[in-house]
Amino acid sequence: MNNIKYKLQRFFRNRYGADPLGLALAGTSLILSILASITRIGLFSIISMIVMAYEIYRMFSKNYVKRRIENDHYMEYKTIAQRRWKVIRNSLRDRNNHYYMCPKCHQIVRVPKGRGKIEITCPSCRNKFVKKS
Ligand SMILES: [Zn+2]
Repeated sequence: MNNIKYKLQRFFRNRYGADPLGLALAGTSLILSILASITRIGLFSIISMIVMAYEIYRMFSKNYVKRRIENDHYMEYKTIAQRRWKVIRNSLRDRNNHYYMCPKCHQIVRVPKGRGKIEITCPSCRNKFVKKS
């Protein structure tokens, strides 16, 4: 019995485990499998299994560096997507200002409406870009 426990401990030692990308993959897989059961389209089920297999592969991987780089890329894309969403949401809510995202560092910049074409300087990275306000 102790031998099995020892072997399991050895197997799970130094494995990468779960991270935000892994959770996103698991969520995607779950949504796809629900879609597959509702729509009865087999393709969703196959894609769901592939995504889940990749997630499990990542969890048991010992290549920390590669998994970490993948997760960093995911977090970067997620941050940009969240900021894009925030720009859209703020633009809809605020009638007096325009919201833009700096093309270089993705900082959200607010400018007052009705000033015509203006050059905007990003407060974070000093990058200049031209937009209509
Ligand atoms: Zn910037």
